[in-house]
Amino acid sequence: MRDLLICISGPSGVGKGTLVKALTREDENLVLSVSCTTRPPRKGETNGVEYFFLSREEFERGIEEGDFIEYDEHFGNYYGTLRSYVEGQLALHRSVILEIDVVGSLAVKKKMDNVITVFIAPPSAEALESRLTGRGSESEEQLAMRRARTEYEYAKSKEYDYIVVNDDLGRALGELRALIQKEKTI
Ligand code: 5GP
Repeated sequence: MRDLLICISGPSGVGKGTLVKALTREDENLVLSVSCTTRPPRKGETNGVEYFFLSREEFERGIEEGDFIEYDEHFGNYYGTLRSYVEGQLALHRSVILEIDVVGSLAVKKKMDNVITVFIAPPSAEALESRLTGRGSESEEQLAMRRARTEYEYAKSKEYDYIVVNDDLGRALGELRALIQKEKTI
C-alpha cells in the first residue's frame, strides 16, 4: 500500500471542505494538510486548524527559506503548502489531502511522488452560485473575484486525474473513498 498525496481542488462553494472533513473523520491514516495563508481568518476559523495565518512578511520569509512545496497568490493573498507538515505526516505513513487550487495541485504533481489530483465539480452552475452566496461570508467584490476564478479552474480541470461531481454528498463521498482505496494499492 502506498501513502498518497491527494490534491483536491474545485470552485469556491462546491463543497470540498465538507467532503474532506468527512473523509478524514472516518480514517485516522488520512489527514488534511494545514496550509499557510496571508488572508485574514473568517468567523469561526482558528489559527493552526483551517490555516496557519501569517503576515506577508512571515510568508515571504518562508518562501525564501524554502518552507513551501508550492505556493500561489490569488484573491490578493498568498496560500502555500508547508513542506514540514506534509513530510512529517508521510513519515508517519499517513496519506495527506491537500485542499489547494489548480495551480498548486499541478505543481505538486510535478514535484512529488504518489500524487493524485481530484477536481470536485458542481452538478450545475446554478447550484454553485447558490452555495457560494449562501455562505454569506464574502463581499460582492470578493464574490466577483471568486466567480472569475471559477472559469479558469474549469479550464484546468481537464488536467486532473479524476473529476468527481458533488451532486449528492453521500454518493460523491463513496466515489472519493473508492478511488483513494484503489490508488493506494496501485
Ligand atoms: P479560501 O480563502 O476559500 O480558504 O481558499 C481559497 C483558495 O485557496 C481555494 O481554492 C483553496 O483551495 C486554495 N488554497 C488553500 N490552501 C492552498 C495552498 O496551500 N496552496 C494553494 N496553491 N492554494 C491553496
